[in-house]
Order: sequence, then structure tokens, then C-alpha cells
Amino acid sequence: MPELPEVEITRRGLAAHLTGLKIKGVAIRNANLRWPIPINLPNVLTDCTIRSVKRRAKYLLMNFDNGTLIMHLGMSGNLRILPVGDKPQKHDHFDLVLSDGKLMRLHDPRRFGAVLWHSGDVLTHPLLALLGPEPLEDDFNARYLYQVTRGRSASIKQCIMENGIVVGVGNIYANEALFRSGIRPQRSAGKISLPRCTKLVGEIRSTLNEAIDQGGSTLRDFVNSAGQPGYFQQSYWVYGRGSKPCRRCGSIIQRIRQGQRSSFFCRSCQK
Ligand SMILES: [Zn+2]
Repeated sequence: MPELPEVEITRRGLAAHLTGLKIKGVAIRNANLRWPIPINLPNVLTDCTIRSVKRRAKYLLMNFDNGTLIMHLGMSGNLRILPVGDKPQKHDHFDLVLSDGKLMRLHDPRRFGAVLWHSGDVLTHPLLALLGPEPLEDDFNARYLYQVTRGRSASIKQCIMENGIVVGVGNIYANEALFRSGIRPQRSAGKISLPRCTKLVGEIRSTLNEAIDQGGSTLRDFVNSAGQPGYFQQSYWVYGRGSKPCRRCGSIIQRIRQGQRSSFFCRSCQK
């Protein structure tokens, strides 16, 4: 599944290629994504100029003067820039034809992705309005995390993966950030001290930033927006390393289930 770093890398690639271009055509080959692609998009978008490409959580926001195209990669989607005339393959559901002789193509085998239109302030869209702060921005900080978790008996791992608390911290990054903070994933969120919240916020940020810098994580079929096949697998401290020795202390990495997701931790390094 594309995680926040892959989405951010895609955003940067799209912004560099698309900003200032006009839409010359829209092809909808299969509208049945997670929600239907609006059939009036060709009328809405043709001859409109792409002003910017932003991101909120894992939604890509392509801004025009008359509204915003909201895109999500779902479980298996990718966006690529290709020459106009490139023959669509299976699962190539959606194209934007661009004024520079190229097109942007959505490929999504599992069709959990989305392409939606919103006129007006996009941050009021129902999918976006209730999201918590961005993990890499200043309103996600130790004081905030401390306050929002007081009285919460849920585990700290489940809290940092909850979109209403902070967006975009997927399972890989939650596991890794908790290891780097020395915090066990099953600790009750409401009992994490302010200094440990400070450590955790810092490690969430650096874990995500390192993944963005390295160009993404493990998605097999991730293709960046320039069309290159994506990226090497990062080396993880704990994620996917159950029963292997801890890279820091040699103890055996534990694997447990929390809220349908696998958690990995070291009994010696994480308390
Ligand atoms: Zn260890």
C-alpha cells in the first residue's frame, strides 16, 4: 500500500511536471474506483490550468481556479507521466491529457483508489474535514500528542495510527518510530509522559523524512511519477523482523497483533 512517503514523492514528481500545464482531455476507462469517478470531469477540466499539486494525508490535491481534483492511490495505485498516445494497459483507468504532449495516467489493479472533484475549499470536503494534523507540520508536536492522548486507554501504537490524531503514520512507520523512541507499542497512550511524547514525535518525523529522502519504502509495484520502477527496500529496525535478533541489542524481536495489524518490538530496547 502506498504510504505517506510514496504519496509525497508522487506529489513532488507531479508538481514538478504538471504545474502551469493545461488539461486538453480526460479519459475515463473505468469509473468504478472506491467511489465513482464523476462523469462530467471532461467538461469541468478541459482547458483548465493546473495551479499546484498539494497533499493532505494521503490525498493528492490538484488545484485549478474552479476547484480541486482529489486523488488517492488506494491499496495499489500509481500515477505516471507518459507520452500522449501511449497505449493503455489493463488497470489503466484514468488519464489526464496535458498541454505539453504528455498525459498523467492512473493505474490501479485493486481499484481502491479515488478520483473526485470538489469546487470550493477542498479542506471542507467530507474526506478531509475531520483529519488530524500532518505529521511533518508544526501543529503535530509533543504538547499536542500528550494532551490528545490523556485519558486514552488504547495503545500508543493504535493512537498514532488514528487519522483523527495524526494522519499518515502507517504500520511500518509506527513500528519503526516506536522502536526508535524506546516505547513498547502496547503501552497505554494515556500513560506516556511528555518527555516520551517529545521523543516519539521527533522519531515519527525523522522516520517519515528518511523514507521520503530515500524515495519510498517497500511497495512492490510503486512507480514514481517519472515512470521509473520504484526504489529499494529500506532496512528496518523491527518491521517485518519477528523472531530475528534486534539490530541494537541482539534480543529476539517479538511479533504481536494489535487491531488487525502486526506489531514488532524488542523487549530490551522498548519499555
Ligand atoms: Zn533490542
